Amino acid sequence: MKKLVIASNNAGKLAEFQTLLAPLGIEVVTQAELGIKEAEEPHITFVENALAKARHASRESGLPALADDSGICVDALKGLPGVISARFSGLPRSDERNNQALLQALQTHDKRAAHYYCVLVFVRWAGDAQPIIAEGEWHGEIAREARGAGGFGYDPYFWLPELGKMSAELTHDEKHAISHRGKAMKVLLEKLKSSGIE
Ligand code: IMP
Repeated sequence: MKKLVIASNNAGKLAEFQTLLAPLGIEVVTQAELGIKEAEEPHITFVENALAKARHASRESGLPALADDSGICVDALKGLPGVISARFSGLPRSDERNNQALLQALQTHDKRAAHYYCVLVFVRWAGDAQPIIAEGEWHGEIAREARGAGGFGYDPYFWLPELGKMSAELTHDEKHAISHRGKAMKVLLEKLKSSGIE
């Protein structure tokens, strides 16, 4: 494989995928660069949404495709915001309003355990019956007050008891080394290598 399409238009994610796949000699392009529109994400599981995005990008480009889906799952809310993390407080998307909605939903709860989840799905072609799937989880708690200026989304409220820090207080590299996305990427790289997809 020489080239693959990323089913995401997020510049930060593209840079991470480029770094990850460069050692394999794989060139990475975004679907936006190829004029491909974003796929719908109508499903109730992360993996189904990621698979739909990967198949769509591969179908439209004729290239192998990699997609991700991620979110934050709060135990006391039966896994919400989950797949609707990006639009938990409705549209247009707003991290600030999402965080306020999460604090509101947890107002009467003392149980604050939560985890970030990321799934990466790679397909060799649109109808691939053996997609490569890699997952990662990152456990913490939802704090009552924000701290830190790094990261994005729910990071100012994602408390890591063992580090005594909010995830927004970590540097990019510190976060990537232990995050859901970082873990999923490591797993994906190993799976790509062991499947002979290089
Ligand atoms: P997506 O995978 O880009 O659709 O992201 C889903 C949503 O989950 C984001 O918009 C954030 O609200 C949340 N999310 C996923 N990963 C992170 C993270 O590392 N930090 C903070 N929020 C995240």
